[in-house]
Formats: sequence, structure tokens, C-alpha cells
Amino acid sequence: MSLNLTDITLTYPDGETRLTALDHVTLTVPKGVLSAVVGPSGSGKSSLLAVAATLVTPDAGTVTLDGITTTGMNRKELTDLRRHKIGIVFQQPNLLPSLTAAEQLQVMAQIDGRSPAKARGRAMQLLDAVGLAAQAGRRPHQLSGGQRQRVNIARALMNEPSILLVDEPTSALDHERGAAIIDLITRLTHQQATATILVTHDRSNLTAVDQITEVHDGRLTLSTPT
Ligand code: ADP
Ligand code: MG
Repeated sequence: MSLNLTDITLTYPDGETRLTALDHVTLTVPKGVLSAVVGPSGSGKSSLLAVAATLVTPDAGTVTLDGITTTGMNRKELTDLRRHKIGIVFQQPNLLPSLTAAEQLQVMAQIDGRSPAKARGRAMQLLDAVGLAAQAGRRPHQLSGGQRQRVNIARALMNEPSILLVDEPTSALDHERGAAIIDLITRLTHQQATATILVTHDRSNLTAVDQITEVHDGRLTLSTPT
């Protein structure tokens, strides 16, 4: 299964005219593949993720998730689809200050209606996968920036999504920690078999990703890993 964006155009109101944030974008990401989208600030990266996440409806084009075309779905159908199929890692780890690392993850499963014991098991398994088994009982203020980002990533995987969307995960980290986060996302993509899009303005850590696409002014051009 996979994620398919086909001929997506997205515009925003801009005074008297409209600004084109995505211009006929087509991108296919198969299951188990990490696709990096690289471009400068303002090039349309977050817009691309918002469309792929079905949070924003494009002016034209289709989004297909696991073979399901989202065109024409109502809000409730989209919310259900997101909950079951999509994990989103936003730029800022918006963790809840009063919850431990394990609880941040368990909350997601409760929303999804799973049993507490199952949720706990899955949470511990994922914290272990991101190297935080020993920190499961810590709250956000007791974790480093890199550790918070790992919790954020583990949380996005809680409901076993087939699609993982990651927005600039290294922007608040130094080079070494940033590289470790990209490696982690690569490994989890293969291990959990997600179709993953990672957007970033920084191509320095992308040596091991499966495919790289460049975005400029809302237009994609294929690039090769360097
Ligand atoms: P990036 O994530 O690469 O920095 P964005 O997708 O956030 O780029 O933005 C692409 C373009 O769309 C920019 O010119 C930005 O100013 C504009 N834009 C983004 N979101 C909105 C919005 N909600 N309303 C109007 N313009 C927006
Ligand atoms: Mg952005």
C-alpha cells in the first residue's frame, strides 16, 4: 500500500489574487519507503504535508491513501481515516506537560478505543524502538530536546498508521542529534512499513533516505540522494 498525491494544486487567498503554494504536484511513496522532500522556507513543504494528511483540501488533484481516494469524503470520514491511517509529526513536539512519555502515547490509543493494557504494551514497545525505554516515566521537562522529538515520533506511530508524515524534525536540534533522528525515522519506516514523507530545508542528513525530491515555489523535481 502507499501514498499517492496526483496533480495537486493548492492556492491560498493573497489580497486581490491567490498565492500558489503547490503547483501540479505528483508524488508516490510506497509502503516501507522514506521519501524526503527538501526545499527552502516558503517553498510549500508544510502545505504538501497538510494536503497529504487530508487536513487541507487542494484546489485540484487527488490524494489516495492505501488505495482509498479521499476526494469527496466528508469531515467525519476524513477524521476516521486520519486516525487509523496517518501518523503526523509536527515541527514542534506538542507534548502535554503533565503526562509521562508512556502516557503521551497511551492517550492516542485511548482515543482510538483500545484497551489500556494493549495501549500500555504498544507504548512500551515503541518507546523501546526509539531508545527511550528507560525514560518511559519521565515528563517532557525531564527530557532533552532530542528525546522529546523521539517521543513525538513514537506517538505518531501509536495507532499503527500506514502513512507517516514528518515536518522538519531536526530544526530544533544540533547536527549530530538531527542525524540520529533522521536515522531513526528511516529505521522505523522500514520496520513499521509506513509510507513516509519527511520534509526539511536541510539536506545534510539525508544520506540514507530512499528517495529525495526537491521543492521550489510549490513545484517538485526529482533529485538523487547525495
Ligand atoms: P514551507 O513549509 O516550505 O516553509 P509553506 O507550505 O508553509 O512552506 O508555505 C508555502 C507558501 O504558502 C508560503 O508562501 C506561505 O507564506 C504560504 N502560506 C502557507 N500557509 C498559508 C495560509 N494558511 N494562508 C496563506 N498563505 C499561506
Ligand atoms: Mg513549513
